[in-house]
Amino acid sequence: MVNFSDVLVLGAGPSAQCIVAELVEQGLVVTALASHVPDKPWPNTYGIWAEELESLGMASLLGHRWTNTVSFFGDGQGEEGVAPIKHHFDYGLFDQEALQKSLLLRCKDTNWCVETAEKIELVGSNTEVVCRSGKTYRGRVVIDASGHRSIFIKRPDHGPVAQQAAYGVVGRFSSPPVEKGQFVLMDFRPDHLSKAELNEPPTFLYAMDFGGGVFFVEETSLACTPPLSSSILKERLYKRLSHRGVEVEEVIHEENCLFPMNLPLPIRTQPVLAFGGAASMVHPASGYMVGALLRRAPALARHLANALAKEPAMDSASIAQEGWKALWTPELVQRHRLYQFGLSRLMSFDETLLRCFFSNFFKLPREDWSGFLANTLPLPRLLIVMMKLFLISPWRVRLGMVGFLDS
Ligand SMILES: Cc1cc2nc3c(=O)[nH]c(=O)nc-3n(C[C@H](O)[C@H](O)[C@H](O)COP(=O)(O)OP(=O)(O)OC[C@H]3O[C@@H](n4cnc5c(N)ncnc54)[C@H](O)[C@@H]3O)c2cc1C
Repeated sequence: MVNFSDVLVLGAGPSAQCIVAELVEQGLVVTALASHVPDKPWPNTYGIWAEELESLGMASLLGHRWTNTVSFFGDGQGEEGVAPIKHHFDYGLFDQEALQKSLLLRCKDTNWCVETAEKIELVGSNTEVVCRSGKTYRGRVVIDASGHRSIFIKRPDHGPVAQQAAYGVVGRFSSPPVEKGQFVLMDFRPDHLSKAELNEPPTFLYAMDFGGGVFFVEETSLACTPPLSSSILKERLYKRLSHRGVEVEEVIHEENCLFPMNLPLPIRTQPVLAFGGAASMVHPASGYMVGALLRRAPALARHLANALAKEPAMDSASIAQEGWKALWTPELVQRHRLYQFGLSRLMSFDETLLRCFFSNFFKLPREDWSGFLANTLPLPRLLIVMMKLFLISPWRVRLGMVGFLDS
């Protein structure tokens, strides 16, 4: 017998669990199909500005929180070149287990099945998912939350996709790699690099003190096509640390990070809906997504519940259309385009220009830069902020922003 639900959700990552929790809250019957059990710990650690979680009433889900948050955009020489920019804004890391538990608690009436979806097809007015096990599941609509590598979601081909890549170590060090109690969003100081390396794609250090003598240090490439390899990033991380007289004494955990930053938006007429990485929801200029998942899931779930209730005979393709309209509103599409444009400009900058760009970016009023990074500024305000940034930037950065320096 075929299992039937209002909504079939693929995946058990943060996107799937966010949207399932909201759909259940709307009283919908949901079946979730994922390649593993839903309480299997997620492999990544997720960071977020604390205020984003506070505005959602979820600040208790932070496992770590830093008030001493800084970046370095100097050249690493002299007093000025090593001076930090202080963000005066708290940053945190999710307590992964608490986030997962709190979402799963809200998903309690969901039928979680350990299945790998292999095929999705329209059958009459419904959709069927055929799984590797041979089992078939049917629903009024399917939401693919299986991540950015989804094999089901169609999107236009805009050429090579830029990827964020990072290599990180949680460990113990011969001396603190960052100040005690400090979080470093971006350390772009390049004084450890050779002349040849300065002409290669720029990378920065993302680092934090976990307390108890344990630190996390990660060499990160904001976005690059093709992506920087893990071995290059590891080499750069060790070189950076060694230049500062820091040796790695114990590796507790290694993180290899690779995900697309400017994945084109999905084709929004397709009869399968998506959420999260599969729906290109990663912020193209920052790489963050979890805050957006928590903010955008309730409206999508409400919209789908209304559509399903209003028209009990509505077919899957029409329900998916409703969902796409709610998820990617014209305003959000326009904002996404602006961010993609911004990222494409940043990717053309050399390391000096990039440092200059970011040191000006963080001179914007805090509400402006944080709203830009969280994607919470309404379109007109976002345009004004981008204009302000242009006006406060030196001429060379302005020329880079408009593409005048491109070879
Ligand atoms: C290392 C790393 C660090 C990151 N750090 C941050 C951060 O600090 N802050 C932030 O906001 N964002 C961060 N991101 C970006 C983004 O938030 C993550 O990529 C996030 O995990 C995406 O969530 P997702 O649920 O869409 O996909 P995933 O987490 O990839 O989950 C996909 C799920 O789908 C399942 N699945 C896949 N295929 C199938 C199938 N055919 N059938 C059934 N199930 C399937 C998988 O088993 C998994 O459960 C990071 C990404 C990476 C890779």
